[in-house]
Amino acid sequence: MILLISDLHLEEQRPDITRAFLTLLDGRARAAESLYILGDFFEAWIGDDAMSPFQLSICKALRALSDSGTQVFLMHGNRDFMVGKAFCKAAGCTLLKDPSVVQLNGEPVLLMHGDSLCTRDEAYMRMRRYLRNPMTLWVLRHLPLGTRHKLARKLRNESRAQTRMKANDIVDVTPEEIPRIMAQYGVRTLIHGHTHRPAIHKLQVGNDAAKRIVLGDWDRQGWALQVDEQGFQLAAFDFVPVPALIH
Ligand code: MN
Repeated sequence: MILLISDLHLEEQRPDITRAFLTLLDGRARAAESLYILGDFFEAWIGDDAMSPFQLSICKALRALSDSGTQVFLMHGNRDFMVGKAFCKAAGCTLLKDPSVVQLNGEPVLLMHGDSLCTRDEAYMRMRRYLRNPMTLWVLRHLPLGTRHKLARKLRNESRAQTRMKANDIVDVTPEEIPRIMAQYGVRTLIHGHTHRPAIHKLQVGNDAAKRIVLGDWDRQGWALQVDEQGFQLAAFDFVPVPALIH
């Protein structure tokens, strides 16, 4: 059995999400042969050299899972594209390029975070090209910590303000992009996150029936895609309430 998740947006301010993730790690993920995390795992990441105690605890939890025998694969999202080799080594996970083709249930499947499919948002696509340029990344990684914190805050605020302003169809994937990229990679199944619109969409690629599975973001509930002999099953699950502190 294989599990795929994305868009947890882990941060210290959301202990409910963290707890749900740790519960998944100790339970379903232990039983899985592999766990794929398709981006925006962390709400923000300013560099492997600047891990907070919270982020370090997540790193250790992932390490415990990979040490137990579950393979862990991580793909960058638009929030955590600065996650680097040092984190992956410490967490025992493998960084996956976006996009990547992997074999799931004996079928080639295209995995993406999904932001690169939202091509109608031209301003974002320009920003993405700039931020993912190796030279920009090098400069970002070498900025003083204080500057990186400020920059990360600015990017997050801008991204939130713009998402509120932009039309709904601009922040969703470009429909024509889907069959095009699936044909390009020779797959009939695409799995991505990012849009926070969990669903399984049926479509045609060439003469073949195909499907696009959109993973859900973790906010009021968690989402996971389970792949096993039964096929691809996308399901939400409730968070266990965090008990109030008793004084
Ligand atoms: Mn995203």
